[in-house]
Amino acid sequence: MKKGMLIILSGPSGVGKGTVRQELFKDESLNLSYSISMTTRKPRPTETEGVDYFFVDEKTFVDKVAKGELLEWARFVGNYYGTPKEHVDKLLNEGKNVVLEIEVQGALQVMKKCPDALTIFLVPPSLEELEKRIRGRRTESEDIVKERMDKARKEIKTKDEYKYVVTNDDVNVAKEKIAQIIRENQQ
Ligand code: 5GP
Repeated sequence: MKKGMLIILSGPSGVGKGTVRQELFKDESLNLSYSISMTTRKPRPTETEGVDYFFVDEKTFVDKVAKGELLEWARFVGNYYGTPKEHVDKLLNEGKNVVLEIEVQGALQVMKKCPDALTIFLVPPSLEELEKRIRGRRTESEDIVKERMDKARKEIKTKDEYKYVVTNDDVNVAKEKIAQIIRENQQ
C-alpha cells in the first residue's frame, strides 16, 4: 500500500489551527488522520483525554523523550508537548494522510527528519486579531496571554521555512485553500 502524506499544520497559538483542522476533517476525500499529541498542560474544561491530547505528568513525558518515543517535542509557555511516533508511523503505513497540529520548534524538528512533509503555516490577519482570539477563548490568565503573544511574534518570523503560508481570515476560505494544497500534493 502507498504510504500516506505527513502534513504539518503550524502557526501561533490562537490562530485557529484547531478550527481549520476540524473543517478539513469533514472532507473525507482528503483521507486525513489526526495525530493526538501528548502534553503536560492541564486539560481545559472542554477537552477530553485521548481525543484532544494525552494528558500526562512531567515524569511520563520526560521518560518518553528519553526512550526516543516522540517524533518531535517542545516546551511551550511552561508545558511540554510532543508527538508519539509509533502511532504516526502506523497511520502513514496504512496510507492515511497524517496531520500534526504543532508549534514552530516541533515543526522545524519534523522538517529536518522528514523533508518530504507537507508544511503549512497559518497566519492571523493581524496581531490585534490574534490577541482578540486568544482572549476570546477565556481559558488563559493575563500573564499567559502576554507570553503567548510574545511567542506568536517570534513564531510568525519563521513562516518562510514552510512550503505554504495561509492566512486564517475566514475559516472556510482557509480550509478550502489547505484542502486544495493537499489535493495538489497528493499523487
Ligand atoms: P495549547 O496549549 O493551546 O493546546 O497548545 C499550545 C501550542 O502547542 C499550540 O501551538 C499547539 O499547536 C502546540 N502543540 C500541540 N501539540 C503539540 C505537539 O505534539 N508538539 C508540538 N511541538 N507542539 C504542539
